[in-house]
Amino acid sequence: MGKAEPPILASPACHSTFDTVAVEHTNRGALTPTFIAHWINGQLTPSQSGRISPVFNPATGEQTGAVGLASQSEVDAAIVSAVDAGRDWRRTALSKRAAVLFAFRELLNQRASELAEIVTAEHGKVTADALGEIARGLENVEYATGVPNLVKGGFSEQVSTDVDVYSIRQPLGVVAGITPFNFPVMVPLWMCANAVATGNAFVLKPSEKDPSASLFLAQLWKDAGLPDGVFTVLQGDREAVNRLLTHPDIAAVSFVGSTPIARYIYETGTANGKRVQALGGAKNHMLVLPDADVDMAADAAVSAAYGAAGERCMAISVVVAVGDIGDQLVEAIATRLPKLRIGDGSDPDTDMGPLITAEHRDKVAGYIAAGVESGATVVVDGRAADVPADGFFLGTTLLDHVGTEMSVYTDEIFGPVLCVLRAETYDDAMAIINSNRYANGVAIFTRDGGAARRFQFDVEVGMVGINVPIPVPVAYYSFGGWKASLFGDQHMYGPEGINFYTRGKVVTSRWPDPAESTIDLGFPRSR
Ligand code: NAD
Repeated sequence: MGKAEPPILASPACHSTFDTVAVEHTNRGALTPTFIAHWINGQLTPSQSGRISPVFNPATGEQTGAVGLASQSEVDAAIVSAVDAGRDWRRTALSKRAAVLFAFRELLNQRASELAEIVTAEHGKVTADALGEIARGLENVEYATGVPNLVKGGFSEQVSTDVDVYSIRQPLGVVAGITPFNFPVMVPLWMCANAVATGNAFVLKPSEKDPSASLFLAQLWKDAGLPDGVFTVLQGDREAVNRLLTHPDIAAVSFVGSTPIARYIYETGTANGKRVQALGGAKNHMLVLPDADVDMAADAAVSAAYGAAGERCMAISVVVAVGDIGDQLVEAIATRLPKLRIGDGSDPDTDMGPLITAEHRDKVAGYIAAGVESGATVVVDGRAADVPADGFFLGTTLLDHVGTEMSVYTDEIFGPVLCVLRAETYDDAMAIINSNRYANGVAIFTRDGGAARRFQFDVEVGMVGINVPIPVPVAYYSFGGWKASLFGDQHMYGPEGINFYTRGKVVTSRWPDPAESTIDLGFPRSR
């Protein structure tokens, strides 16, 4: 890989209706304009469905591409190649599968900056943040390189006279991943690294809002030696998703996205006999006890609330200040906000980029208006911020004295809006947090180890940070919330990811002397 690599993204052929899409610009130079294709059987395959969705650079507001949306028959055709490829792939030796994972890891590492550029161009997050999501995704690939060890079974000798028992884990077949816009690299890697390593064929349906990173990943898999058809990308919307949820050859579905869709995916997928893990939305609280270091808590709140413009499922969107720390904390957060530089994520001086679409920006602004109307105190109003005129920008908002009945509190906003709630005691704060319908991540800031230990025990949330605002587990643990943040039993990646993509089989074996054979109608028991 010493030589300069050609751009991976461009599709070789244009969609027949593409010329009608007014796309003149892109900041991806040679890739102008882009029709974003599927990746089927190891090749870019432009959709013939006649349905497309525009793709924007959120920092400029310009349309940079169009993605073809799969029809039902395109989904069916892709699954045929995935079934074929999966049949051979599960027979491939574990050591050879691990070698592909190692090669993929190397390529991803080498080409991270190109991939980050694509993420920034379509998502809007700053390049350092895009590199961060790639690094966290890479951890999952590294974990999956250990697949020979991860799928080891158990063996018990002589469970009965001359009888041995052993357990093995086998792949499911073809599994699908349906992913959100906010992590176009990391979330697909949460899924595909373990799914492929364990011997499945994987079909990715990325978000139609930033679909190009998926094709870059597909090319890297191919370059790493993954056989054609084992990794497929189907671009699409609800139509593609519905076909994946009902297709008889899809054995399991991993989903990450908003709660209403997660619930729908879980109910529809399981009703069609599939194994489903569906991760939904979030409203993550940060509990700040009176003994916390105010500056440290304020730094953490600002970083976790406004990073990626709040478009993270693990973003802190609520601070619950206990006792008399509230006033100091709000002031400390407010003084930090004017220093954040808002602009194009590809500018290395930018701290916070735009939101994903104009529509989403307007929705977030609507929540701020509703918060003001319902009586929250506006400390900083992002709608009044001095932000670039083009693009889907919104400044940072800080609302104080927010009530639990207000929509800014009850709903996931998914934007740069931080709500502060006041609580008199730890118990009051815990009652607020444990009553929330979401339960993805949570954090406590304190210097009291006993209080932190109690919090970790009491809190009804799936991922807990102690003086850590964004407690995304490392790849050898598993990721997942509780309540409306997760539908299904298995969390994503790590040991639960390996379990999700495999099924257990137990073999009982005996090699008797035929001369000793008898008929025995009794139920088998140990002898
Ligand atoms: P989304 O639910 O709108 O879309 C997610 C995926 O579902 C996309 O691939 C989309 O094409 C598909 N989809 C959308 N509407 C559909 C429908 N009606 N039928 C079938 N499929 C449909 O989510 P998003 O806006 O892309 O992402 C943001 C959401 O994802 C937030 O709610 C965020 O909290 C959540 N999220 C959760 C986690 C987590 O780990 N819990 C991680 C990242 C993002």
